[in-house]
Amino acid sequence: MRAPAGSLVRYDRLFVGGEWVAPLDGGLVESIDPATGLPWAEVGFGGPRDIDRAVAAAREAFEGPWRRMPGWERAALLRRLADLYREHAGEMAVLESRDSGRAIREARADLGAHHHWYQWFASLADKISGRTIPMDDTVHCFTTRVPVGVVGAITPWNAPMLTTTWKVAPALAAGCTVVLKPAEQTPVTALELARLIEKAGFPPGVFNVVPGYGRDAGARLVAHPGVDKIAFTGEGRTAKTILRNGADNLKRFSFELGGKAPHIIFADADVDQAVNAATSSAWAVCGQSCALGSRVLVERPIYDRVVAAFAERARKVRVGMPLDETTHMGPQAHAEQLDKTLSYIKIGRSEGAELIAGGGRLTDGPLANGYFVAPTVFANVANEMRIAREEIFGPVAALIPFSGEEEAVAIANDTTYGLTAGLWTRDVGRAHRVSARIQAGIVWVNTYRYIRWSTPYGGFKASGWGRENGLEALDNFLETRTTVVSTTGQFP
Ligand code: NAD
Repeated sequence: MRAPAGSLVRYDRLFVGGEWVAPLDGGLVESIDPATGLPWAEVGFGGPRDIDRAVAAAREAFEGPWRRMPGWERAALLRRLADLYREHAGEMAVLESRDSGRAIREARADLGAHHHWYQWFASLADKISGRTIPMDDTVHCFTTRVPVGVVGAITPWNAPMLTTTWKVAPALAAGCTVVLKPAEQTPVTALELARLIEKAGFPPGVFNVVPGYGRDAGARLVAHPGVDKIAFTGEGRTAKTILRNGADNLKRFSFELGGKAPHIIFADADVDQAVNAATSSAWAVCGQSCALGSRVLVERPIYDRVVAAFAERARKVRVGMPLDETTHMGPQAHAEQLDKTLSYIKIGRSEGAELIAGGGRLTDGPLANGYFVAPTVFANVANEMRIAREEIFGPVAALIPFSGEEEAVAIANDTTYGLTAGLWTRDVGRAHRVSARIQAGIVWVNTYRYIRWSTPYGGFKASGWGRENGLEALDNFLETRTTVVSTTGQFP
């Protein structure tokens, strides 16, 4: 499955029905290392017929061994997978770093925690239960929670394994089977996950991976009548296409989409801590995360101080080769994203925002051919500007001044998105008042991007449908069946 092919690493097989198979459609596609702009791997991409095969395998497993397996046995398999994941997280982090350009220290910290998801959802797999509902004297009424069936999981390129883990762990715990279609730019770690699932001993067909393009493999998965549910992370525009294409059999959908998070710093905050969190969250994952506080709202009395601190921090960020242990921030994950980020920097300038740090591509020395962008800070941004309204997905922070709580809340909510938000204040009353008014799926107070397997995550408004993580994540993969038994055989 994985072999050196000249100077390229080759992953030429798909994982379908517990076997490593050559694609029926598609063929080998080069995966580009964004730090060099050169191919580093060749990956077998599948197309519609491969999706059909994978869905058939997932259906067979769902109707057969997986449906019959008790929750405690699913839990044991998930625990074995958690152990294997922990053992191999370091190697997987290197692969993710090469495929997506994330700095190795960041990728290692991220993937180094994923086994917790498998463990935590394992602990729920044998506790999925319904309710007994009081009805009439001669009737026994109860609910059972049953798996939705075959899940099509479609993931993005910015955090390939995190977005996969958030779907696969609860889906398998709930008793569903999965066909995963990873992003075309970053397919490699999904195949490594398949190796671990194979090694853990899951029955064939419970988990399948078909790398491929969204427009053919992804589109077929969405339209396939044998798929019961699509769990998607990606862009809102793609989600709308998916909704239309998957409408025929009224599949279930969950969507984790974009964000334009407000990160609010009040004048009474611990400003140093707030700046630490706001700067690191502006540039983490090279700015390519839906959770980043890309709109930094700063109360006027501390505005100049925060602007100066942002500029200083931006200059200290070590942008470099992703596998260098000292690198803070790697390149943009692919050439299109590089162009998109640079075009928004131009837009910010033309809209009259004040550029106080960064503002362009970095091409010095070893960075020459990679997709590197300097950490960029715009001050005096108005919330009406496009750089404050549209998701850039690059390392670009927009600093917006405000006066008082009312204006902070108004600006924070003046967006089509509603995924995450942060606020910094020492006033506990204000912390509760303001967080209760923010339209976002998660609000962090005096911290930022604090995420655990147990905490629901997902969006209000255009940021998505449903929640990943936490007990709520299981709801994505379960149906409720109500059973009403008459003890007398009488109609009502
Ligand atoms: P994208 O929508 O372009 O692609 C996501 C996936 O969808 C890829 O696997 C792609 O191949 C597939 N796809 C594309 N067209 C398809 C189609 N017609 N049918 C089926 N599948 C199709 O998104 P992206 O650029 O890879 O990811 C970036 C986006 O993801 C950003 O908007 C970001 O905010 C969002 N995101 C959200 C979260 C979250 O948890 N809310 C997390 C990470 C990323």
